[in-house]
Amino acid sequence: MAEKVCRACHRFVKEGVCPVCKGTSFSWTWKGIVIVNDPNNSAIAKHMGITAPGKYCILVK
Ligand SMILES: [Zn+2]
Repeated sequence: MAEKVCRACHRFVKEGVCPVCKGTSFSWTWKGIVIVNDPNNSAIAKHMGITAPGKYCILVK
């Protein structure tokens, strides 16, 4: 089953509302997966503006 991602913060979301940014706009078309365990010590997280640990995609269409 395809997973949806939040268009605003790129987080993979199972709920109807994004737990991170409270966004409700999702996309099923995405590319690349990034797992962030420690946003404060992750260069990728800083680059992407990720502030909460979790699973994110790199690109949303
Ligand atoms: Zn979000």
